[in-house]
Amino acid sequence: MNSIKKPSIIGYPYIARPLSVEKKLSILSQDSQYDLACACGSSADDRRKRSDTGDRWIYPVTLPDGGRGFLLKTLLSNACVNDCGYCPLRADTNAQRCTLEPEQVARMFLHYYRSKRVFGLFVSSGVCGSPDSSMQRLIETASILRKREHFKGYIHLKIIPGASDTAIEEALKLASTVSLNIETAGAPNFSKLSKGKDYLRDIIRPIQTIGRLTAKGAPYSRVKHTTQFVVGASTETDRELLSYCGGLYDRLHLQRIYFSAYQRGLGRPDLPGEQSTVSSSDLLTREHRLYQVDFLLRKYRFSADEIPLDSRGFLSLTTDPKQLWARAHPGFFPVNVNKADKWELLRVPGLGHQAVGRILATRKDGRRVNSLENVGTVGKVLGRAREYVCFG
Ligand code: SF4
Repeated sequence: MNSIKKPSIIGYPYIARPLSVEKKLSILSQDSQYDLACACGSSADDRRKRSDTGDRWIYPVTLPDGGRGFLLKTLLSNACVNDCGYCPLRADTNAQRCTLEPEQVARMFLHYYRSKRVFGLFVSSGVCGSPDSSMQRLIETASILRKREHFKGYIHLKIIPGASDTAIEEALKLASTVSLNIETAGAPNFSKLSKGKDYLRDIIRPIQTIGRLTAKGAPYSRVKHTTQFVVGASTETDRELLSYCGGLYDRLHLQRIYFSAYQRGLGRPDLPGEQSTVSSSDLLTREHRLYQVDFLLRKYRFSADEIPLDSRGFLSLTTDPKQLWARAHPGFFPVNVNKADKWELLRVPGLGHQAVGRILATRKDGRRVNSLENVGTVGKVLGRAREYVCFG
């Protein structure tokens, strides 16, 4: 929608001027902020870096491989036919709607890319018409960049819920990373968020298709696959979330799962997240704990069923999950720093990959580790290891 008609107070119809491409980009990139499935920064430091760039559509990011940089991140359109209760862009809100053409986004992106302000593009869209017609516009954007402009760098394409297998495959031919947000764990929880979308048909089926096509040895194994949960919008427990995370990593080989604490005030008033008595700061702590567990699953060889949960199926808000696991397994400790293997050492609270790397390097040199001081500065984090290690 390019212009907005408002009633005039002096009797003449008021025709708003069409929005400029920059104005649309400003609106659409702002509306893309809720999507974290490319690790677009949401920390205070990232927000500062973003505003330092002057252009609101440039986002600092951490990529699935750990790299950092800036992306141009935008929606093609914020018009949407869907009714996702947590989303400020759902069909029945008064959000200012606008749409950019694939050619306009491609041109804007190349301008920033050629001036070395961004290294890649993240592009998503509300659902205008059918899922596949929205996919076609995303695909066209990537196609202009890849085929006409011979851009070989990073493109993250969102997969629209309900996209066909054909559209998914077209996107995979062009993208570096694709993501479809899973939103919550299981159809019963999803039914509290949206009546219009079907969890199995529109979310799980396409995620499974992407998983199959990007698996090791499959035609698009070079393409990264990520997703995002919105935490606390429905009534999902952490046990349910972790069970889905285990399946997404183990069976569908996703590179990353992101968690976004539901922001109260943006959703439908009858949404469980709107009616919840959990404070916003506790919800953010819950998000943080889920990220800690995500690390334990991906980088520390924990399995989802080893993660300690309370009797209601939630992570502790007061103690980090690795520390809780250690307290529940006194027989595993103390771990002998001079004999234990890498994965045993990584189970010790306070020891991360860097500290364990130093321990193993010292041992490889034929030297002994005699105290934590040999490993690094013993501050709050490394100090946690003291009660769990020995140096025999
Ligand atoms: S599909 Fe749902 S989450 Fe995505 S823009 Fe539309 S209403 Fe929002």
